[in-house]
Amino acid sequence: MMYQSNSLRQSLKHFFGYDSFRPGQAEIVEEALRNRDLLVIMPTGGGKSLCFQLPALLKPGLSVVVSPLIALMQDQVDTLLDNGIGATFLNSSLSSQEMRSREQAIVHGKIKLLYIAPERLLNEKFTPFLDFISQKIGISAFAIDEAHCVSEWGHDFRPEYRQLKQLRKCYSQVPMFALTATATNRVQEDIIKQLGLRQPRIHISSFNRPNLYYDVKPKERHSYNKLLTYIRGQKGTGIVYCLSRRSVDEIALHLQNDGIDALPYHAGMDDKTRRLNQNRFIRDDVQVIVATIAFGMGIDKPDVRFVIHYDLPRNLEGYYQESGRAGRDGEPAECTLFFSLSDLKKIEYIINQKTSSQERKVSRQQLRQVVDYAEGVDCRRTIVLQYFGERFLGNCGNCDNCLNPKPIEDWTIEAQKFLSCVVRCNEKFGMNHIIDVLRGSKKRKIEQYGHHLLSTYSIGKDKSLAEWKMLGRSLIHQNLLDETSDGFPVLKLNKQSWKVLKKQRKVKISVDKKIALEAPIYNKSEVNKIELLFEKLRNLRKQLADSHNIAPYVIFADSSLRLMAQLKPKNMQEFSKISGVTDFKKNQYGEKFLSEIMSFLREEAYPNTLPTSSNMITLELYQQGLDTAEIAKMRGLKESTIYSHLSELIETRQPVDIDKLILPVRQDIIIQAIKKIGDGTLTSIKKYLGDNYSYNEIKLVRAWYRREQEL
Ligand code: ADP
Ligand code: ZN
Repeated sequence: MMYQSNSLRQSLKHFFGYDSFRPGQAEIVEEALRNRDLLVIMPTGGGKSLCFQLPALLKPGLSVVVSPLIALMQDQVDTLLDNGIGATFLNSSLSSQEMRSREQAIVHGKIKLLYIAPERLLNEKFTPFLDFISQKIGISAFAIDEAHCVSEWGHDFRPEYRQLKQLRKCYSQVPMFALTATATNRVQEDIIKQLGLRQPRIHISSFNRPNLYYDVKPKERHSYNKLLTYIRGQKGTGIVYCLSRRSVDEIALHLQNDGIDALPYHAGMDDKTRRLNQNRFIRDDVQVIVATIAFGMGIDKPDVRFVIHYDLPRNLEGYYQESGRAGRDGEPAECTLFFSLSDLKKIEYIINQKTSSQERKVSRQQLRQVVDYAEGVDCRRTIVLQYFGERFLGNCGNCDNCLNPKPIEDWTIEAQKFLSCVVRCNEKFGMNHIIDVLRGSKKRKIEQYGHHLLSTYSIGKDKSLAEWKMLGRSLIHQNLLDETSDGFPVLKLNKQSWKVLKKQRKVKISVDKKIALEAPIYNKSEVNKIELLFEKLRNLRKQLADSHNIAPYVIFADSSLRLMAQLKPKNMQEFSKISGVTDFKKNQYGEKFLSEIMSFLREEAYPNTLPTSSNMITLELYQQGLDTAEIAKMRGLKESTIYSHLSELIETRQPVDIDKLILPVRQDIIIQAIKKIGDGTLTSIKKYLGDNYSYNEIKLVRAWYRREQEL
């Protein structure tokens, strides 16, 4: 049976609503249709599932998918069912009655894809059923998902996977597909051997994930504030990884107190709460999950928009896999690593506790690779992909180093100032104090120690605190300065430091011009509108998902919603052209999404119309010199309603002088806030500003801001 690539594309649109294949998918599907054994190696988010799902739908018979985790099965089956595709799973969570009815559906040929755990598939109670199916319906393929579980060399060995070899013996004519995201050669060889694949076609995709933005931020004592600002600037959901359970709990609590919907996840919590938190994250009930790396194995949420490593990962493969949980849907997503020297020390300490010297050696080397990545000034992609044996020439345009190439500068003189200040302070103080002295701080502590009398006092006023810190850290990284690690970190000179002071060696550092962390600023009004509609569609999706008791992304991917927000389809025909919209989805959800878009367009048209008569009355009274309370009283309306009138008047460029209503300094602060977190809902701006600012004030300033954006 041969399929022309054209008709393959039609099937893709028909079943999954996508217009084109991702790299590698079409070739793999074609090979699968030729009944070849396959080994598919693709990074997370590469689109592995489709490689066996589409052939399963095009071939007669049942495809059996072996999957290690119940959560994974559930997720994939939900997604397929919501596309109107016959899929089911069998596992221990089902009642015996439910089991029987699903088996009946299989016997009657209503199911194209059966998800099952290996131990059940090979259970002697199940094999007679499998034999029966094989004869009556036919088995079109065995797809072994997460195939690295078969190998002891992988990071997730499962002994049950070893028994899968029997499949080859009992069903020698059925093709077998093995799929994984693990890249090492050793694991690949092991998979082929352990599963008994027959001259498999091996497909290895590039591990480059172009949609991920890689970023490393310096982590300082007060980096929690950076984390908070960053999350406040984000619209989608994200994961924050921490090293220990304790810090998971702490950070989650802090975020909650600061008004972020965040939940913790770690192995020390009871099963029920953990599952609940995971589900609430998957369902978009909360924005952030704070977790140890235990979280994420077997979680398929495709619309994670950011992954933050608040602590240092132990090795680069781990970092790649964990950060790779962002943006599986191919939409832009951000991976941020907070890097600090004290974290490095923590991990070094853990490593030193290991008894085997070989293990210590391996761990140290792995740690070194992480540090090279974090401190590297080259394209982050080049560094990561090199780890996987892939050559990438750099200049990706989507990492911090490529966007802000860090120039190497000669900072010998500054280094001498810094080091001599450490000497003058008798090598008894930490970095902040040294910098305070250099910058001529007036802090009490400085005078107490008489450090305002030192010759180095105030000789570094030309550089900011952040710049001095950058230098100080770089000196430590380059081993030109030591920092003690027992309790309070104190700076001490070493041999190399003296060489610098004696002008025997130069100091070069890579200078980070963008030291402060900035949240994205949305300022174009068109971008704003798309964002706004996108948010509305997201909310609608969430409501629908809750009422169907499924995860939101099962209904539509973020990418589909974004296209809807950009293209604003006005009828069913236009709607059905959106990528991700199948006939099935169109019938099920089309009307609801269309009507949301229509009502948005109607609202959007409003500012161009003349003020309503009610607004006009308010305007007249206002121009007569009445204040808002008086107007409200006179008209028998709430004061907040008058504020709404005034803000609509401002937005439609009627003569309302905002300076008479709100002090300019307060306006400035509100505008700063809007720029910082984006022109979103009043609640979000209010949340950010706190109790000192009222909804009424914010409403007016936001209107003013929007009007200015229109120019
Ligand atoms: P993997 O198992 O390789 O991590 P998935 O199979 O879960 O990846 O696919 C990741 C995401 O990409 C899913 O949301 C899926 O629907 C989407 N996807 C897969 N193939 C395509 C395609 N050809 N076009 C658009 N989206 C796709
Ligand atoms: Zn780059």
